[in-house]
Amino acid sequence: MSRILLVAAGTVCLFALAVQAATNDYALKPSAVADGIYVLPGLTENFSRENGGNIVNTGFIVGSDGVIVIDTGPSRDYGRQQRASIATVTPLPVRQVYITHAHPDHFLGDQAYSPDLIAALPGTSAAIRKNGELLSDNLYRLVGGWMIGTEVVAPSQDAVSGPVTIAGRKLKLMAAAGHTDSDLMIFDEATKTLFTGDLVFHRRAATTPNADIARWLATLDEIDKLDFVVLVPGHGPVVRDHAAIAETRDYLRWLTRSLREAAAEGLDMAEVMNLPLPERFQSLSVVRTEYTRSVSHLYPAIELEALPPVVKSTP
Ligand SMILES: [Zn+2]
Repeated sequence: MSRILLVAAGTVCLFALAVQAATNDYALKPSAVADGIYVLPGLTENFSRENGGNIVNTGFIVGSDGVIVIDTGPSRDYGRQQRASIATVTPLPVRQVYITHAHPDHFLGDQAYSPDLIAALPGTSAAIRKNGELLSDNLYRLVGGWMIGTEVVAPSQDAVSGPVTIAGRKLKLMAAAGHTDSDLMIFDEATKTLFTGDLVFHRRAATTPNADIARWLATLDEIDKLDFVVLVPGHGPVVRDHAAIAETRDYLRWLTRSLREAAAEGLDMAEVMNLPLPERFQSLSVVRTEYTRSVSHLYPAIELEALPPVVKSTP
């Protein structure tokens, strides 16, 4: 390609990004799920240039003299629009931001807030510092111009398991693991609302790139014992029962069992990816895509486990 053509192509790309930047409207609408508790529901889709990465549930809790934000979304513009949507509900300032875990759709809106307000479990902050740029670059490739101006901001405070009162709201922070090695849940005592982050998915297949499924299943058993009235999953509709927990557990159990069975039968990865999915999971959003991703990152280790032990013969 000639230099002139290259420059022209570059200009067209920049123009396309500029047009995208001018129209980045996530159309966030706070949905009240309990007294003073709001969710900004995301789509149950994969990242795309159409949805700009708005596939995640974020939320906020309005207290007596301030607001607590839970997750900041996939980009700087999402964070800014999240902040604007909070202002449509209350003039009170944001006092605290919690990041549930180190996945890009949950923390890349951090720039919209003062860094000293942002808290996460130490493992989450460490993962954001280590992998944040890579995750941000990857999301940029997937959603394009919606990411313009987005920079990685690591949390500056450590979230500690246990009770905490912020802006007059009594909260309980719970450190857990399984979806990643560091997953924070936030429980509001007054309304018994539980924000689970991505430990619970609903009507959308779970993502597993950093998962330890055995730990995740053990965590789901613990969540099942909690006395909540409202459960806000990381992705999918808010529920008032244990259905989303059961659904996530069923999918993860089936996933592990079917991959182990496939390995025992000696199937190769391509064969496993093409296996039919059970009828009961067909209605989960993006299930075929997530299943394929899960096979690609879980199957190699499961195949190794299934190999017979090497018997060394003595010379
Ligand atoms: Zn996640």
